Amino acid sequence: MNDVCYPTTTGLISIEQARASMRTAILPVSEVERIGIEHAHGRILATRVRSAIAIPPQRNAAMDGYAFNGHALPPADDASTATLTIVGTAWAGQPFDGELKPGECVRILTGAVVPDTADSVIAQEQVERHDGNITFPRSLPLFKNIRPAGSDVALDEVLIDAPQKLGARHLALLASAGIGHIDVYRRLKIAFFSTGDELVDVTQTLKTGQIYDSNRYLLSGLLHAPNHVVTDLGIVADQPERLERLLSDAATHHDVIISTGGVSVGDADFVKQTLARCGKLDFWQLAIKPGKPLTFGRIGECWFIGLPGNPVAVWVTYEQFVKPALQQLAGAAATQKLRLPARCLDTLRKTAGRQEYQRGILQQSADGSLSVKRAGGQDSHQMQAASRANCLIVLDVDCQGIEIGESVWVEPLSTEL
Ligand code: AMP
Ligand code: MG
Repeated sequence: MNDVCYPTTTGLISIEQARASMRTAILPVSEVERIGIEHAHGRILATRVRSAIAIPPQRNAAMDGYAFNGHALPPADDASTATLTIVGTAWAGQPFDGELKPGECVRILTGAVVPDTADSVIAQEQVERHDGNITFPRSLPLFKNIRPAGSDVALDEVLIDAPQKLGARHLALLASAGIGHIDVYRRLKIAFFSTGDELVDVTQTLKTGQIYDSNRYLLSGLLHAPNHVVTDLGIVADQPERLERLLSDAATHHDVIISTGGVSVGDADFVKQTLARCGKLDFWQLAIKPGKPLTFGRIGECWFIGLPGNPVAVWVTYEQFVKPALQQLAGAAATQKLRLPARCLDTLRKTAGRQEYQRGILQQSADGSLSVKRAGGQDSHQMQAASRANCLIVLDVDCQGIEIGESVWVEPLSTEL
């Protein structure tokens, strides 16, 4: 763990410093469990997997047609034809068990094992069939349409290296090698809660001064993943004693606690002090907008991430800090966010001092060029604009605004909901 990095009154921790500090501090979980691949989507493969078979296991036909020995055809000029006698059928799953001699062919279906003495499969559209024979032009290319054994994966080849987050294609690959069980890292136990005396749940009626708690629904959606076990701890009042009890208790049986609100400098912001009392504060206050009061630390063995209160700040800091931190803790390989240059169609206001993530709508024109416009209001409570956005426009610390037509960096959002 690095030394605690408190910002000075004039300075804020840079995004890079904060990321580096989290990267150095967080060690991946080490516990591994063996599970069936039917439960493995979205889990993190912990042990490299090799294939105990060649895929495909035998040579097979790439299309429906006829298999024969091309080398055994009599030499001929381009204008002539070849005629072969059909002596049987090779079905997918039911190989031809006879002997295939020169001058003969077998009817073969896609995926069927190619008889040993055959070296060519000719497509059924390319032959004429009559009285148990086929005829085709001698000029057709031979030695085609056979998938060699092991042409996808060789025997003992590494199928998937670890760590790897498993998607549908990985599961198909494992299944094709006959691997039904694999080792994955255990799930992360994550708890989250909202702080704020003004918050009420959507099930209740608002009184003057109250607002609905949207952050818990935001976090619940963001945290939804096959390798997370998520606990919603509800809304917690702005009372240091209750906060401390909750944190100390939740820390004993979770890997990570995430809170929202109460990390700023207001009179009702108790999260940071409470963390410092019952755990350890690693950093607070970053040069980022939205999300400046982000707080990171730990309570015993449990990581603590205090997100700001405003929903847009919660979302942006989740994307920028929480997601990579959880990936690392889960044992997954680090991923780099895709950044693209796009022409800005709006004027963007900004003052120097913090890196900004403005909410944008990225579009691509017919010639492939990218442009971006503001998704709407850029205040950190304006969730409607955030909900319309399909990218974040990244404006660096020193940037003092963008004029129409200038190029900006954008980070497209995941297209998954
Ligand atoms: P705070 O940092 O606790 O002062 O919160 C900053 C702003 O975010 C305030 O306007 C809060 O009312 C608002 N806020 C805090 N938590 C939530 C929440 N869970 N849902 C919606 N808004 C919130
Ligand atoms: Mg608050």
